[in-house]
Amino acid sequence: MRVALTFDADMTAGMRQAVLDGEAVHYDRRIISLLRQTGTRATIFVTGLWAETYPDEVRSFAADPLLEIANHSWDHRAFRSPCYGLPALTSDTDRRRQINRAAASIRRLSAVSTMYFRYPGGCHGDSDVALVREESHVPVQWDVISGDPFQDRPSVIVRNVLSSVNPGSIIVFHLNGSPNAPGTYAALRSLVPELKSRGYEPVTLTELLKERARPPHLSPATPRVRLL
Ligand SMILES: [Zn+2]
Repeated sequence: MRVALTFDADMTAGMRQAVLDGEAVHYDRRIISLLRQTGTRATIFVTGLWAETYPDEVRSFAADPLLEIANHSWDHRAFRSPCYGLPALTSDTDRRRQINRAAASIRRLSAVSTMYFRYPGGCHGDSDVALVREESHVPVQWDVISGDPFQDRPSVIVRNVLSSVNPGSIIVFHLNGSPNAPGTYAALRSLVPELKSRGYEPVTLTELLKERARPPHLSPATPRVRLL
């Protein structure tokens, strides 16, 4: 029973400024260490600004067969609003630039050409699905919400995942750590062994999706997993 653990590495302009000012880190390194120590595969949805802030990490992810890098926009602006207070993009030119600027940054740093795209906040309209495909990416959402944003009780995150995970699930977490995702690491310390003991095998998105008979974005009736 395969599942995909996915981690969004958010970075808005304001978050990056906080990193530059030494007021925040917006990267919980313990999560990557845990994945490596436990031999756990995962997919990291990286924003371009996160990549520019942590270029060595992006190179390290690219060199690690456990990890797959995907695209989470340039600076985490909303494709549609309202979207959790994120500033909204207002033109398709800007939406396309978000995808391509992040892809170019990741490619320049790591030589990885991203295949999958996740909308900031998951917010999108029907036309955004076609737009992402036209920019050579597959839009990927999730079917299991860990609920880790601003959740400092790891037990809540653990319960959210275990109560809704199924074979083939795509689970969304965040790589940012405190203050945006303060409980993710502690939750994973329980979740990773628990999922494995229940027979789930964490794999990358590519590994999860290649088992499907048809590309997921062409299968509107795909059960459970919400792929666009
Ligand atoms: Zn995000």
